[in-house]
Amino acid sequence: MEHRPWPARPAAGVTLPPPGRARSFDVAVVGGGLVGLQTALRIKALAPETGVAVLERDRCGAGASGRNGGQFHSWWDRAGTLEAVCGEAEAVRLARATEAGIEELVALAGRRPEVGLRQAGWVWTAGPGQRGGRDPGPEAAPGPWAETVAKARELGAEPYLEVPRDDLERRSGSPRVSAAIEEPRGGSLSPPGLVAALRAEALAAGVEIFERTSVSGLRGGTRPQLATPGGTVGAGAVVLATNVWAARLPQLRGKLFVVGSDLVESAPVPGLLAERGWIGGEAVCDSQARVLYWTATPEGRVAFGRGGNRIAPFNRVGGRYEGASRWAADVAAAMRRTLPYMERVELDAAWSGAVDRTADGLPLVGRLDGETKVFYGVGWSGSGVVPSIVGGQVLAGLALGLEDEWTRSPLVDRAAPSFPPEPLRTLGAHVVRESVRRVAAAADAGREPPRLASALASLTPTAPARSELPKAPPAEERAR
Ligand SMILES: Cc1cc2nc3c(=O)[nH]c(=O)nc-3n(C[C@H](O)[C@H](O)[C@H](O)COP(=O)(O)OP(=O)(O)OC[C@H]3O[C@@H](n4cnc5c(N)ncnc54)[C@H](O)[C@@H]3O)c2cc1C
Repeated sequence: MEHRPWPARPAAGVTLPPPGRARSFDVAVVGGGLVGLQTALRIKALAPETGVAVLERDRCGAGASGRNGGQFHSWWDRAGTLEAVCGEAEAVRLARATEAGIEELVALAGRRPEVGLRQAGWVWTAGPGQRGGRDPGPEAAPGPWAETVAKARELGAEPYLEVPRDDLERRSGSPRVSAAIEEPRGGSLSPPGLVAALRAEALAAGVEIFERTSVSGLRGGTRPQLATPGGTVGAGAVVLATNVWAARLPQLRGKLFVVGSDLVESAPVPGLLAERGWIGGEAVCDSQARVLYWTATPEGRVAFGRGGNRIAPFNRVGGRYEGASRWAADVAAAMRRTLPYMERVELDAAWSGAVDRTADGLPLVGRLDGETKVFYGVGWSGSGVVPSIVGGQVLAGLALGLEDEWTRSPLVDRAAPSFPPEPLRTLGAHVVRESVRRVAAAADAGREPPRLASALASLTPTAPARSELPKAPPAEERAR
């Protein structure tokens, strides 16, 4: 079994060399993931004459961007949190911006087929245990998404459709799903293919990309300097797009929490999936705090992941998220429970990635404390494929010194909630994760979860798509 992500997917081409000597740019972007590449591209679109460098420690996409689940959807699932942080009008603007971001991805995939995008819907499911212990039947309360759907409606949007009961298995691939909604504009894509496409577009736009170029020091001030193996890189502005690798910066570490997410990929079984009619490429997830997410790939493999695994004490990332997944057996077991017909199918690959979680599930974008020319965009909280487009817009505006709707967004320099200090944070996270595991096990077995475990599990920092969850609607609403 391979340990590198997405064995069957395109790589990003020949590795580009480091700068080799002291260089100077108008903007230096540190990190060649989705956020760094989107930022560089946006700068070039806004001001083509700007000299932009991307400095990437490894190869573009070596971090979460090339090893994620490839699922995409809009920010309507975060509308409640966006509204609380930014106000109603801005929440709507940002959610609409992610809809436009999806259109951009669709257009990119039209130009560059390696993106492998299939707009087959983002399907948010619940199994019986995730709807109150037993299958409550078709007439029961709508499911854990009730508040999310209501919030979007209150803000004037109808992004979700209910998946008809007799279509649940065909759309989710799982006979265990008992209810689901979908966002039809969502879907799945190839993560390394997306990185390869953005990298190619950035190079074509004149961005200079330096790979195998680890930035080991930053001196701020009016003209920041970055230390690289080849020499010092000076820049008019610096953008830190280093995801979990920014989580130990003193200005950010209290607000970020690094946790693993793990994926397995099966051998190709196109016939088996076709028998079930599950071939559209829907991006599917469930309703647990340690979310399960899965997709049937264009080659007829199943890519199946689980969030909330390895916790990084003191946000130390090291190489822990780059080798073999220690959670592969656990994720494979979850896949076989969810998709029982995969029982005998071999796995071809298993890998880990690190997620930079914030306490409210929204990213942190702004100026590094005390600096006027150093900006950061981190904390994508396990959902970055589309939000990185919004991030690129904000960061490009900041780096260019623009005053516009992006740089004035209340999302910029917001006072985000903090996690408890270490070592309490790591200890607490272990307790909460164990409680979440016990709640999930009870749900799987159709039992009521232990009360203490439920209470502790509810302390999980907001997981993707779970920001307004799970609160059962009141009985009178259910009766209607
Ligand atoms: C397993 C997994 C599954 C996920 N599934 C989904 C999904 O289905 N849908 C979705 O929307 N999101 C998903 N996400 C989240 C998504 O992948 C991230 O939010 C997104 O990729 C973040 O992009 P980024 O550019 O900030 O980070 P990264 O891709 O991690 O990029 C940061 C880059 O910075 C580089 N770097 C770090 N330190 C330095 C340094 N000192 N010098 C130079 N370079 C440096 C790293 O090598 C890395 O390439 C998932 C994440 C994981 C881990």
